[in-house]
Amino acid sequence: MKKLTLLLLLALLSINCAWAGHKLFSAGKSRYSIVVCDAASESELTAARELQLYLKQISSVYLPIKSSDELRRGEPHIFIGYNPSYGKKLGVETPAVESEAFTYRSVGKNIWIYGGKQRGTMYGVYTFLEREFGVRWYTKDCTKIPELESWQFSKLNHSEAPAVLIRQMDYFDAQDAAFLAHNKVNSVWNSMQNDYGGLVGYWRCHTFEHFVNSNKYFSSHPEYFSLRNGVRQPHTQLCLSNPDVLELCKSGMLQVIEQNPNYWVYSLSQNDNFNYCQCEKCTEIANKYGGQSGLLLWFVNQVADVVKEHYPDKHISTFAYQYTRGVPKDIKPRENVVIRLCSIECCFGHPLSECDHNKPFMADIIKWKDVAGKLFIWDYVTNFRHYLVPFPNFNVLAPNIRTFIDHNVVGIFEEGQYQSSGGSFADLRTWVLNKLLWNPSQDTRALVEDFITGYYGAAAPHVLEFFDLCHAQLKDDMVLNIFYQIDSPILSDEFISRGTELVNKACQAVENQSDEIKHRAALVQLQMKYIHLMRHPAKALEDGTYDYFIDFIRRHKIRITEWEDVEGWIRWYNDIYLGKKIRQGTLVAKAPSGV
Ligand SMILES: [Zn+2]
Ligand SMILES: [Zn+2]
Repeated sequence: MKKLTLLLLLALLSINCAWAGHKLFSAGKSRYSIVVCDAASESELTAARELQLYLKQISSVYLPIKSSDELRRGEPHIFIGYNPSYGKKLGVETPAVESEAFTYRSVGKNIWIYGGKQRGTMYGVYTFLEREFGVRWYTKDCTKIPELESWQFSKLNHSEAPAVLIRQMDYFDAQDAAFLAHNKVNSVWNSMQNDYGGLVGYWRCHTFEHFVNSNKYFSSHPEYFSLRNGVRQPHTQLCLSNPDVLELCKSGMLQVIEQNPNYWVYSLSQNDNFNYCQCEKCTEIANKYGGQSGLLLWFVNQVADVVKEHYPDKHISTFAYQYTRGVPKDIKPRENVVIRLCSIECCFGHPLSECDHNKPFMADIIKWKDVAGKLFIWDYVTNFRHYLVPFPNFNVLAPNIRTFIDHNVVGIFEEGQYQSSGGSFADLRTWVLNKLLWNPSQDTRALVEDFITGYYGAAAPHVLEFFDLCHAQLKDDMVLNIFYQIDSPILSDEFISRGTELVNKACQAVENQSDEIKHRAALVQLQMKYIHLMRHPAKALEDGTYDYFIDFIRRHKIRITEWEDVEGWIRWYNDIYLGKKIRQGTLVAKAPSGV
């Protein structure tokens, strides 16, 4: 009898083990349909359509999309979006429309994906595809979609919420609406209305010149502009204590908002130079409020007050940048003023909170945290003088984002190579940053390996080794700043020799792969070609690097520096860089034509 009970128990256990869960699809078949909630938002409809398309590519099955009144009892469903009728059943409250948090979970054989209507549910659908099926949106042109024979689940229950409210990217290839939505980035410069719930728009920066233009006003009103060493000068900053300047900015700002109503925030901020006004009155106000940031805030607050009267839900932003980075005294930003604190002077080789070089910035952010109700970070993630040199900052991305969040920021903006494709690891850095802005607790190394393995085909092992070699160059006593020079010790001779070997191997490994993968490997290699071109111009002319490089950047429109377009840089290289060496007699190779 005992034996029989044991056998029965074993039989029951084996039945239980054989149950592999609810089959969403198997062998090209599925019983499921996708159900969009009543009054679904545009982004929820987009997400439902895309779920259908991606599942089709994963499983070869086309799941029908139905509305809630088309449901048939007994059929299994994936419910997209929150609906009060089943909200009760699930025991969850209605999410706020603007909430970007989401949950996906199963109850029996049904799956529910819901969040805020604007973008939350949509983010839930994309995360469901990523986490459960391995879909990756690496770049706007490279999506990994695994093909699966079957997929089943026993219990799903997963929730996420963004670590920071506004996540803004400034890489050239990160401006595509679908790519941004898939990776949960919700802001760009432009206020984009789209099928993905729109994007938080940030209207411009360095806008003093926009509101009081030097060409228009300087000849008739030189007093509107900075007094520098006793002389009024155009193309500097504004004389902020001048009441006419204030009126021009007030009326100009109201006009901008009226003409561009879809932005969250509008910038009223210093031009990109250090030439603030030294007149007596400006100096007096600056002294009263603890420095140039105090004068700026005194001015911006007055414009913000007028904006609030007409547009109570809009924000005005200004900089805490360079000469205005310090925290003012006895004055605070108005509730509708966003302070955009810029980390431009920092070392990005070591985390902000751990590097001596970054102590002044940390001192400022700690004070701004208490003064600014809405603090927004402008962060820098590449070398702007030489877009193509390695910028080994991947180890600081997550800790720095966490540092910003610890100081109550409402948003983080990551400025990279925004003018063209092709900077040092631009694709990889864009994707990893997208992920970390949403959740900086993620494992950066795992993200890097995921991308490199999925993106570089057979070149992946060599690319990863090169990536690690770049990071190994950074020593504790080095400062990684965003304008580091080509003769920096970061680019040692040993690094150049080994790095060149690795990128060449990467290109050789993909010789028989697709043109896309060859191009990705060539972009990795381009970093070493650029260093060779700059360090050894004579050799680069002789060994063909010069011809290859110029042809490559022309064909693919790759900018080399923030300040020059492609042709401008080529002219600079030929006329100034090579020209000087030829005149000095240090370049003996045959110069290219036109030099
Ligand atoms: Zn002045
Ligand atoms: Zn450092």
